[in-house]
Amino acid sequence: MGMDHRLALFHLVLLFFVTCQVSPSPRNQQFEDYRNSADKWLSIVNRKLEQAANRHAILSWQIHTNRTAEAVNELSKEERARSKFNAELCEERKRWAVELLSRTQQRMMARLCHGTQLNENQTKTLVETTTRLQAIYSEAVVNVAGHNYTGESEIKDVMAKTRDYSTLLEAWSGWRNAVGPPSKELFHRMIEINNLGVQAAGLHDTSELWKKELGIDNLEKVVDDLYATVRPLYVQLHAFVRGRLSAIDKTGVVHSDRPIPAHVLGNMWAQNWEPLLPLLLPNTAALSGAEEATLVLRKRFSSFNQLVEVAQDFFLSLGFQPLPSSFWTRSQFVRPNDGRKPVCHGSATDFYSKEDVRLMMCGEINEDDFYTLHHEMGHLYYFLAYSHQPFLFRSGASSAFHEAIGDTIIYAAMTTQHRLRLGFLSTNTNNKDQEIVDLLRQALVKIPILPFSLALEKWRWGVMAGQIKPNEYNQVWWKFKLKYQGIVPPIERSEKDFDPASKFHIISNTPYIRYFLSSILQVQIFQALCESSQQGPRFGKPLNQCDIYGSIKAGNRLREMLSLGSSHPWNVALKVLTHEENPKIDAQPLMDYYQPLHKWLVMENRRLNYTVGFH
Ligand SMILES: [Zn+2]
Repeated sequence: MGMDHRLALFHLVLLFFVTCQVSPSPRNQQFEDYRNSADKWLSIVNRKLEQAANRHAILSWQIHTNRTAEAVNELSKEERARSKFNAELCEERKRWAVELLSRTQQRMMARLCHGTQLNENQTKTLVETTTRLQAIYSEAVVNVAGHNYTGESEIKDVMAKTRDYSTLLEAWSGWRNAVGPPSKELFHRMIEINNLGVQAAGLHDTSELWKKELGIDNLEKVVDDLYATVRPLYVQLHAFVRGRLSAIDKTGVVHSDRPIPAHVLGNMWAQNWEPLLPLLLPNTAALSGAEEATLVLRKRFSSFNQLVEVAQDFFLSLGFQPLPSSFWTRSQFVRPNDGRKPVCHGSATDFYSKEDVRLMMCGEINEDDFYTLHHEMGHLYYFLAYSHQPFLFRSGASSAFHEAIGDTIIYAAMTTQHRLRLGFLSTNTNNKDQEIVDLLRQALVKIPILPFSLALEKWRWGVMAGQIKPNEYNQVWWKFKLKYQGIVPPIERSEKDFDPASKFHIISNTPYIRYFLSSILQVQIFQALCESSQQGPRFGKPLNQCDIYGSIKAGNRLREMLSLGSSHPWNVALKVLTHEENPKIDAQPLMDYYQPLHKWLVMENRRLNYTVGFH
């Protein structure tokens, strides 16, 4: 109380100095003292938050690798202590006259008190609810053609490898039957509790909080505009895939002019169509399918650790340091064979303790996991690059940037030159055919996720804001899927089903529009790195032929950006990369990258008389 009073008086005195414009020296001294005491307070806060985040990471790790009732209980306790501490910090923060602080201090203060404010009971219920949801998801058993598959990682493989439509349908609907209905009530409860927490913090609902995190004004309009730029490419890709599938389909499942049934696209969520590549280009000599890259990897490597090393090698070539030894000993690379049931969804974790960063995967030696490793490594190197920052700045320029880094490196690693280096291509054919095959392969991975993520997040924003009610969850989910992705469920759905729960990020309540933004941002970053190594369109070379492997200049520029953490707004971070005065998130580099493929798709769809569009 006394302290508050003194501070208030102090503000008055400062105000007097400012308004009367007296000689600068005493005023400067006052400012300096005030800011010094703010620094002291903030550094204590940073240290405490860092310790709490470390405890939280350790407990979450325990639950993800080996869920026990004790660990869930501990985590729940920790969460309650943390929300109490956060509430205290929010109160204490009010004592500071923000306008008198430095810009860095202001930024820290702003980051101090955002997020949900839950009471003890709500926190406890929330932890129990989310843990149960994750358990349903990771322990679901689905029987397909007499064989049992456990969890996402096993069943998703079936979707990628099988081309028999009835088996695909069994896996598609089996997974949704296993995870959907038991999750609906829990999901609804999770949304409600989170909303109570953000409402206590003065916001309307959780979607508002999520949008704020990205620091983009008018986010909905921005993503709509970005998508309007990319949509023509998606529509052509959709038309080509549908045309090809219906031409080879003897069963009549895929119609040449209707939306595509969601189970035939090579993926549980129709978000990555890469497994279809061999079907799409059956007679192309330059086609080297995913199978081949997987075979090369299996021939060369006997352990998953070696695969991790090869993924790390790309970062080393850019001048990054090898990952710390604790990473190699503490990570979970492959599914344990001791009966534990870990959460196998690939993820990277910062433990906020020196260099303790870890990877969680149930990895296998195949092309898909090889590129997932590059993605996760982007997170790990980001964690390490900003580990010197105070806790409140130990995060990405935004979550979209965090997601983009590893994928920027995937763009670099998927070039024809690098696939040759890895032995995924046998000879340097480097002709037009090869270029189209490589671009198509990438587009099948990178383009469907754009409408997929837009549909997912628009649905969830609507749910959080209360515009979409529980009795229309599933129906609106599919309405958005049709509108953005041009896909339909292969069998009838009702509100007894809860298909959103088939996706990890829905049941784990992870925001998703970051992946949409990341998919666009990563090509923009890739272009910036190309230019820093004197390549790319400005240097007379198409963007898709840019090879940054071994470029120290590109690595330096990337590290410079990564090391900022969240100490500056995202556009400052982007400026470090692009050297543009007022950089914006821009879909043009993505369109430039795929331009040869876009042209080719338009010509092929015309030549083959394929229907374009899905409305
Ligand atoms: Zn990620």
